[in-house]
Amino acid sequence: MNRLLMALALLLLAPAMAPAMARAEAPTADQRLILVTMDGTRWQEVFRGADKALVAEPKFTHPDWKETVEKAWDTGPGVMPFLHSLPAQGGVLHGNRDTGQCMRVTNPMWFSYPGYNELLTGRPDPAITTNDKTWNRNTTFLEWLNRRPGFAGKVRMYGTWDVFPYIINDKRSGVPVNGEAPGALPTETRTMRMAQDALRSAADMRVLYVALGDTDEFAHEGDYAQYLASMNRDDDFIAELWRMAQADPAWRGRTTLMVTTDHGRGARPGAYWTEHGSAAAWKLAPQDYTIADPEGFTGSDAIWFAAIGPGVHPAPQLPLKTACLTQSQIAASALAALGEDWRAFDAGAGAPLPFFAGR
Ligand SMILES: [Zn+2]
Repeated sequence: MNRLLMALALLLLAPAMAPAMARAEAPTADQRLILVTMDGTRWQEVFRGADKALVAEPKFTHPDWKETVEKAWDTGPGVMPFLHSLPAQGGVLHGNRDTGQCMRVTNPMWFSYPGYNELLTGRPDPAITTNDKTWNRNTTFLEWLNRRPGFAGKVRMYGTWDVFPYIINDKRSGVPVNGEAPGALPTETRTMRMAQDALRSAADMRVLYVALGDTDEFAHEGDYAQYLASMNRDDDFIAELWRMAQADPAWRGRTTLMVTTDHGRGARPGAYWTEHGSAAAWKLAPQDYTIADPEGFTGSDAIWFAAIGPGVHPAPQLPLKTACLTQSQIAASALAALGEDWRAFDAGAGAPLPFFAGR
């Protein structure tokens, strides 16, 4: 081939090759993350749907809602259709103890601040024994990223709970909570709208954390139908966030979505589902509980996890008797999905979940 022909061939090939190369590089270039937490949402409802005994109890399920609950939310996919669609799309939904899966928190408290700290820092801190508004001494992966080249100023959080500014230490970390409405306590609906507005308008954002809390609120009130309705609404919201990300060239193909919870709830029959916390937590503050359980709310350490995106490798059908996965592995998973070195963040953090291993 003479030089002219060669040059012509390269010219013709170049445009075709460029996007292919860009795609091949995608896993390490400009990866993005959407993390959503649903406070105090039990694996039981995620996978089994409504508990018949709790639906039959008018004290927990208002008669006006009974039919909806029985007809629409009697299965896990009924309550959370989007989360249950993830495995068929190359994602994962893990934590179904009925099929031998297992995931749990490793902090000894089984309530929110210790849970979010473990989730966001990659390790439990036994010194965190309350939900008090104390500035977190630990560094979350959000804060670490917000100091990294390529991520600085591109990490945002939206949530309804007024302890979050303390947990992510917004003063020190510089990670803004609730964007244009800092310090405000928006309703969940408003939180959802602010997060969606941010996704739509902040083209340079790379990490979006949305913390939803209605599930825990309604559960503590003992309102089972509204607890299920919140889960269903959250699932809709998460599906819409994912749809928006897929419709936006800045996010499509380079975004990993993760969904999880800070803790479970009591698993024993009766009113125990309304509460959560370990025996140690109970002993520290029995006045915080509406029903007595000095032994702790059994099962409220059990959690679940869902994810989809280029960072996720769903390979495992994990062996049934596999070790229980832990909340402390989520921070490293998030960093792995972003193509970041989680050991540089904290070599002592939980290693990435097996769905993210190899990255
Ligand atoms: Zn709670």
